Amino acid sequence: MTTLDDARALDARDPIAWLRDAFVIADDDQLYADGNSLGRLSHATREAIDRAVTEEWGRGLVRSWDRWIDLPVSVGDAIGANFLGAAPGQTVVSDSTTVNLYKLAAAGTRGGGQPHPMVLTNATNFPTDRYVLEGVVGPDRVDLIDEPVTVESVDDALGRRGGQIGLASFSAVDYRSGALLDIAAITAATRRHGALVLWDLSHAVGAVELELDAWNVDMAVGCTYKYLNGGPGAPAFLYVAERLHDRLPPVVQGWFGAADQFAMHPSYAPAPGVRRHLAGTPPVVALRGLEAAIATLGAAGISALAAKGRTLTGVVIAAADDHLRHRGFDLATSREPSARGAHVALRHDDAWRICQALIAHASVVPDFREPDIVRLGFAPAYTRHVDAYDAVVRIARVVDQGLHEAMPAERARVT
Ligand SMILES: *Cc1c(COP(=O)(O)O)cnc(C)c1O
Repeated sequence: MTTLDDARALDARDPIAWLRDAFVIADDDQLYADGNSLGRLSHATREAIDRAVTEEWGRGLVRSWDRWIDLPVSVGDAIGANFLGAAPGQTVVSDSTTVNLYKLAAAGTRGGGQPHPMVLTNATNFPTDRYVLEGVVGPDRVDLIDEPVTVESVDDALGRRGGQIGLASFSAVDYRSGALLDIAAITAATRRHGALVLWDLSHAVGAVELELDAWNVDMAVGCTYKYLNGGPGAPAFLYVAERLHDRLPPVVQGWFGAADQFAMHPSYAPAPGVRRHLAGTPPVVALRGLEAAIATLGAAGISALAAKGRTLTGVVIAAADDHLRHRGFDLATSREPSARGAHVALRHDDAWRICQALIAHASVVPDFREPDIVRLGFAPAYTRHVDAYDAVVRIARVVDQGLHEAMPAERARVT
C-alpha cells in the first residue's frame, strides 16, 4: 500500500524540488502527465525566445548571424555533455527527429561497406522510425523483430541473416510501454555482427542516464521537445561517433554542412566532423529557447532527474496497484526501475474514452496510444510525487463515476 504521505515524504527529500519553480505552471490544479509528448515551458526559455526575437532579430537583424551561425554545434555539444555522455564535436541540432533518422539511416547504409544492406528494427517501434527505414532501403529489406528487443532477440535476428544486415535501429525507451533497453549490450551485439546501430533517444533523453561514448554507440537521434522542454517543434539532435565521421557520407549535401560555407565553392566538400550532417538554415528562435531549457535542466543534472523519474514512476505503479488494478487496468511497464524510462503505460479496454474524461472532468492530462494505452509521463523536472499519486486517485474516481461513458468512441485528430 502506498499513501499520499509516502508521496509527500519523497517530495520532502527531493533534491531537485526547486526546479519546478523554473517552469510556467499556468494551472496549479492541472496534473500534467504528458511531459513525454510536450515538455513544459521554462521561464528561461520564454525569456530567451523573447530576447532572440526582440533584440537579436528586431534590432540586430542580419548581423546577428555572427552569433547564430554556430548554435547547431554549441547547443548540440551542450546536449551531448549534459544528457548523452558525448564528448564535444559529435552532436548537432538540426531538422526533426524524422529527418535526422533518414539522414543517418541512409548514411549508415551507404557508408557501411555493403552494396545492398538490410536494416533491422522491431515491429512495434515508433511509426516514423519504421516508415523512414522502409523508405531508405525498401520495405522488403527491413527485417522486423516481433518479440521484445533484447540482446538475445537482436543477436538471433542478426545471426539468422548471416551478415546481410548493415544497420540496426531501435528506440532506447519504447514510446508505448516505457521499456528501457540495454543500450550498451545491444550495441555490442550489433557490432559483433558487423552492423552499425542507430538509436532513437526521443523518449530517453532527459529521462534516463545515457553514456553514448562509453557504450560505443555509432549513431543516435532524438527529440528536444519532450523531456528537454525545447518547445513545440523544437529542432532535434543527431549524434555520430567521432570514429565514423569520415566513413559516413552526408546524405543532404547542404551548405551548412559544407567545408567552407561562405566561400560559395562551385562544388560540395563536406565540413570536417559531425557538422557535415547539417543541411540548411537552422530555426534560430527555437534554438535559443532550447539552449535556455538545457541550461535550466543541466543545473539539476541528469542523474538527479533520472533518479526522480524512477521514484515518480514507482509512485504511479504502486498507486495503480492499489487503486486501478481492480478497475480494469493492467500495467504495461516494467516494475524494475532500471528497465523503464520516465513514463508508465496502463492498459484498459476503454483507454481512449478514459483519457478524454480525464482531460474534460478531472484536470489530468495524459495521452492515449493505440490500441488501449493510457500513458502517464510525469516529467521529473517539474512534477511532484504527490501530483503523480493524485493523478492515479483521480483516474479511479473518473472510472467509478463512469464519466468516460459519455465520451465519444471515435478518435480525435490528435490523440
Ligand atoms: C516523438 C518521437 C518521434 C517524433 O519525431 P518527429 O520527427 O519529431 O515528429 C520520433 N521517434 C520517437 C521514438 C518518438 O518518440
